[in-house]
Amino acid sequence: MYKEIAIRVSPEEAGREELFFRELAARQEGIEAQRIKRLSVVRRSVDARQRRVVINLTLGIHIDSIEEPAPLFVPVYRDVSAGRRVVVIGAGPAGLFAALRLIERGFRPLVLERGKPVAERKKDLAHLYATGCVSEDSNFGFGEGGAGTFSDGKLFTRSRKRGDVRRILEILVYHGADRNILVDAHPHLGTDQLPGVIANIRKTIERYGGEVRFTCRVTDLLVKAGAVRGVIAGGEELAADEVILATGHSARDIYRMLHARSVYMEPKDFAAGLRLEHPQSLIDRLQYHTPQGRGKWLPAAEYSFVSNVENRGVYSFCMCPGGVVVPAATGPEQQVVNGMSSSARNTPWANSAVVTSIGREELEGMGFSGLFAGMEFQECLEREAWKRGGGALRAPAQRLTDFMHDRLSGEFPRVSYKPGITATRFHEWLPEIVTRRLKAGLALFGQRARGFLTDQAVLLGVETRTSAPLRIPRGSDRLVHPGVAGLYPCGEGAGYAGGIVSAAMDGEKCAESVQ
Ligand SMILES: Cc1cc2nc3c(=O)[nH]c(=O)nc-3n(C[C@H](O)[C@H](O)[C@H](O)COP(=O)(O)OP(=O)(O)OC[C@H]3O[C@@H](n4cnc5c(N)ncnc54)[C@H](O)[C@@H]3O)c2cc1C
Repeated sequence: MYKEIAIRVSPEEAGREELFFRELAARQEGIEAQRIKRLSVVRRSVDARQRRVVINLTLGIHIDSIEEPAPLFVPVYRDVSAGRRVVVIGAGPAGLFAALRLIERGFRPLVLERGKPVAERKKDLAHLYATGCVSEDSNFGFGEGGAGTFSDGKLFTRSRKRGDVRRILEILVYHGADRNILVDAHPHLGTDQLPGVIANIRKTIERYGGEVRFTCRVTDLLVKAGAVRGVIAGGEELAADEVILATGHSARDIYRMLHARSVYMEPKDFAAGLRLEHPQSLIDRLQYHTPQGRGKWLPAAEYSFVSNVENRGVYSFCMCPGGVVVPAATGPEQQVVNGMSSSARNTPWANSAVVTSIGREELEGMGFSGLFAGMEFQECLEREAWKRGGGALRAPAQRLTDFMHDRLSGEFPRVSYKPGITATRFHEWLPEIVTRRLKAGLALFGQRARGFLTDQAVLLGVETRTSAPLRIPRGSDRLVHPGVAGLYPCGEGAGYAGGIVSAAMDGEKCAESVQ
């Protein structure tokens, strides 16, 4: 008989040998330990709500006999060399998972990606750090794997109703991801593991007859009589009746090109703010309620805060425990920050975005109107941040406590951000609605976690790429643009995802819509 049972153990016990769990499970079930023929951990989460931190485990136990567990989902890919071609623009999670699903369905994906394969992309990032110059096609946002390749690789999503999260995780495991992502309540891969998995996905696409073209920026969409007829990519015209557009929210040239081609889009609310970096040891002490911090057995602690200020959300987002802050600009003279970490999450820092949502009427109040109001607002903040930082990707920065009192910081604790920081007063140049709300939101976070508002924490600017400022609409059954037959707006850039897993799920959904 196979059965799943829940147990609660201390962090130290959670690291013990299988024999320990066998005895624990046997005791809980009132049976002899020898009757448990096989045991595995199928779910694991850290419960730090009480003073004593515990690990919740779900154990799968086989009593008396071994029942083979349901096998992991194995995707059935088939040779699609002779299948009908579908163009996918963008090799981020949305585009790659769209391509995989197209293959399952017998279509032949042609993926067009402006950036480079992941190995070459790494070299461009090294160049970016060395020179402070950002290539417009190969950076933290653009290239194989999209924006999520050099990230924390968090695979946790709240958008379960958007699709089958487990299926996405199993496809990642099939392509070489650590199986623990199927067990952990908050799974993550880390930037050391993601590139290999992404490259394996590309190899699958190619092995089954699909194609991925790198350094192949799409510059135009050919539309005739309300239907897609092709794209211009890498200077070449490619005929296509079906195009999945998964270019992410940083492809501003794509939004402008679509507008020039009269493809209908809508402005949407988005969020902006700053990135906050603390010493990880401080976050460990706060979240695990102990002066000793996380000790040997617990993972680097996470936090997530949400508050409401002036009827607008102010929240932490995309937290990277044991990570570093990275320059996430995708063009020249833009200063943008984001975060990433390795699978071990073992740097001395914890960083997270702290952002507030911004409404359309508020943008108008600040002089930004029309379809591109949000995008122009983002661009304006990024340009100003570039100037305030002093160029070369240096980030304007302020100690958290100085931000709360609108003081220029004299000196800083050591930060993880490699290009360097320049002291600024964010209140002096960020829009008041942003600084006022962030300040109020941070004060509320500080009430929930005493010690959070510390002079050891530093705010870095600016965090403007958390969500798309536009939506490219589509039907609800067939996910086709209402005005352009054959165009499938997909993923984060189209406004239907926010994160690696939700973008992947959206890619699959768009591929399922192709007829
Ligand atoms: C540093 C960083 C850390 C992050 N950490 C996490 C995390 O831990 N967990 C998480 O869930 N999310 C994280 N995110 C967000 C996540 O990466 C995105 O939500 C996700 O990648 C969106 O997927 P997408 O496929 O829709 O778009 P993208 O990943 O943005 O992919 C779009 C692709 O399209 C390509 N492209 C753009 N324009 C063109 C063109 N004209 N022609 C051809 N190709 C084009 C781009 O090069 C890119 O490869 C992070 C983002 C960043 C930048």
